[in-house]
Order: sequence, then structure tokens, then C-alpha cells
Amino acid sequence: MDYLEKLKNREELFWKNPKLGNKSKDDFSLSFDGVIEAEMLLKKIAPFIMKKFPETVERNGIIESELTEIPNMKKLLNEKYKSDVPGKIFLKQDNELAVAGSVKARGGIYEILKYAKELLVDNGIINEDDDYSVIASREVNNFLSKYTIQVGSTGNLGLSIGIISRTLGFKVVVHMSRDAAQWKKDLLRSYGAEVIEYEGDYGKAVERGRRLSERNPYSYFVDDENSKNLFYGYAVAAIRLEKQLEELNVQVNEENPLFVYIPCGVGGAPGGIAYGLKEMFGENVHVFFVEPTNSPCMLLGMASGKHRDISVFDIGLSGLTKADGLAVARPSGFVGKVMDEILSGVFTIDDEFLFEYMNDLYSSENIFIEPSAASSFQGVGRLFNDREFQSYITGNIKAKQENINHVLWSTGGSLVPMSVREKLLKK
Ligand SMILES: *Cc1c(COP(=O)(O)O)cnc(C)c1O
Repeated sequence: MDYLEKLKNREELFWKNPKLGNKSKDDFSLSFDGVIEAEMLLKKIAPFIMKKFPETVERNGIIESELTEIPNMKKLLNEKYKSDVPGKIFLKQDNELAVAGSVKARGGIYEILKYAKELLVDNGIINEDDDYSVIASREVNNFLSKYTIQVGSTGNLGLSIGIISRTLGFKVVVHMSRDAAQWKKDLLRSYGAEVIEYEGDYGKAVERGRRLSERNPYSYFVDDENSKNLFYGYAVAAIRLEKQLEELNVQVNEENPLFVYIPCGVGGAPGGIAYGLKEMFGENVHVFFVEPTNSPCMLLGMASGKHRDISVFDIGLSGLTKADGLAVARPSGFVGKVMDEILSGVFTIDDEFLFEYMNDLYSSENIFIEPSAASSFQGVGRLFNDREFQSYITGNIKAKQENINHVLWSTGGSLVPMSVREKLLKK
């Protein structure tokens, strides 16, 4: 239990998943058809999205972000941390994702649109095969205003769910944990969402929100830890990434492995993306999560085999981190079990270095991302030469290492107000 001592001491580390590639009997009743269904609904609803969010017109109402090579940052990492990473480094810029400004956009918006569509069809307001731009009508808005959407969040899921739900006409209650940034609460209130703040952590906010929602027959609770729709919505990113890689002439095959690094909180967003990527690229993609040293909940759950039956508090950690989106003490059990078979490993990062990477990216590429998102650099930054991680890059992967393409998932940033950015960048 070497990893456990290190976790307790809050040492940065790479943990290699020993169960990678095992096949369990449980298939968690997941199916890639669910991802395709999500992609189809998001296409069908695009005219509505375009109408309500003009910034999406350029992409015909599809909410998607750029994949950008960042050679200057690569050079800086090599000079500053002697990382000497072979291959190319790309940033998947969900920090610029329309509507919600974070990785939560795809999943959150799909979850709510699917619920709204079902309500509208079941009540005879629209037909299954109508043109869904009718959803922008006042009649639909009035009808949906009878219903309340509730969600527990560290910030960005609340923003994603809150913004799309208010746009459709729903009432919204967001249960925010103590770690949520003030500007996120302010922004949600400006959309007319009710924000309830909790002294406790994310787990407490979710628990209260779920209970309050259960008491109201007109209330729907977005369950970040268990929702398959949310998961499928997140996974759509994989279909989109495949196209973008193709456009950039980046191949993914035995000769050209793809390494993907994603910040992890409760596990829904990174889990959905990892699932989608593995379905598409199989053994040629290697997915890694990154978590703060103070809240490595997914690592702890997977490594101990206890999943959501263990929390970082149980090993004496505070759960506190400036990576607000990753301040989660207990992982999603459902996601953790799916990750057992497909995740390559998990990096941890000390808060101090979130701000280093954030500043590094800003100074080298002029791209601003929020602290949680900056954690994605740990694998190609200071831990690239870590012995444990190098022991992952062996055999065939080692032989092809010059061909590895690294994709760092930049999970949020564009909605961060200028005044807050300035403070963050000075740290
Ligand atoms: C939510 C979030 C994550 C992690 O997603 P989970 O589904 O909580 O694991 C990472 N980065 C940012 C910026 C986020 O908002």
C-alpha cells in the first residue's frame, strides 16, 4: 500500500491502474448507442441553440471547442521542468466552450434538453419529429416554468445546468458547496437561478439538493454521480475529437498512440470522455486523470477498490483545494467501476503548481484557463519523468514514443471575470 502513505503525505505521484484491460462481468448497462443518441439530439436541437446563443452560429448551433497545438508551451515545459516530452502537445480548449465556458456544457445541456424534450412530447406540446426550434416559443417556456431543476455543484455544473434550464424557462435551484467561486454564484443569480450555499463540501450539497428535490413532484434532480444521460452527453466529446484529429492529420493507431490527460472531480465528465475515447480508439488511446493532492478521490476509490465507500477524509486529507472544480471528497461509484477497466492511471498535483501551469500557458500561448483545468499539465510537466509514469511508457509505446500525441483537456476558463483572472494570474 505504498500509494496510500504517499496520498496521506500529500506527495505528488503517478498511480498506475493495475486493473487496466481486465474485463469484468458487469457491463454497467452502458452502450455506445447512448452516446450516438446524445450526439443526434444535440444536432437536432442546434437551431434552438443558435437562436438563443448567437455565439454558436459559427458552428451551426453545435457546442464544440478547438483542438490547438501548443508548441510554445511545450518548449517552456522542457526548459522550466526538464520534462523533455516526445511527440506533440495539443490543448482541447473546453475553456472556450460556448454557453457554459467549461467541459460541463455538453453533458449538462444534453441532460436538460433530453428531460425537456420528454416532458414536452409526453404532454403533447411538441411532436417527436417536429423542428425543435419551436422550443424557443413562449408556450413552451410557460409550460416548462411549472417545473424546477435542481443540482448540486462545485460551480461549473451549476452554471451549465442553470444557464440552459433558465433559457428553456425552468425554475432552477443550485446547491453550491463551500468551494464554489463567488463569481459563479453571482453569475447564476443573474440568470434568475436560486443559489443555496452550504458550509460543507460537495457531498453535503448534493445530499441536501437530492432530498429537497424528492419532496417536490415538479422537481427534477440532476444526479452528477449516477446520471447516464449526463455521462453520455460528456462522451459525445470523443466523437467530436476524432473528427478534429482527422482534420489536423493526427492519426491514432498502433504506430501513433494518443495520450489524453483530464482533470477529475467526481468523475462524470472525465469518465464520460474516457469511455467515449476507449470505445472509439481502444488500446491505442491511453487516458489519465489528474486530481489535487488534497482531494484524490477517484485514485483512492479505485486503488482501494472501495469506490464511493471511501472518502479522502477517511485518510486524513482536508479535501480543500484552489481547483474548485476538483474539490470532491468521494468519487462517483458507477464511474469508478467503469474506469477500473479502461483508465491508465491518475496523477496528483499540489495546488502551488496549478498556478504555475496556468501562468506558464498564459505567458507562452496567451491562453487563460482556470486553476482546475491547469492540472491537466501535470502529466507532461513535472511528472513526465516520474519513475512510475516512465514505467508505463515501455515496450511498444516506448518504441513509438516520438509519435505520441498528447491531448490535455482544458476543462474551463472563459467565463472567469477579468478582475478574477488578474488575481489568479498574480498568484
Ligand atoms: C467539473 C470539472 C472537472 C471535473 O469533472 P467531474 O465530472 O467533476 O469529474 C474538471 N475541471 C473543471 C473546470 C470542472 O468544472
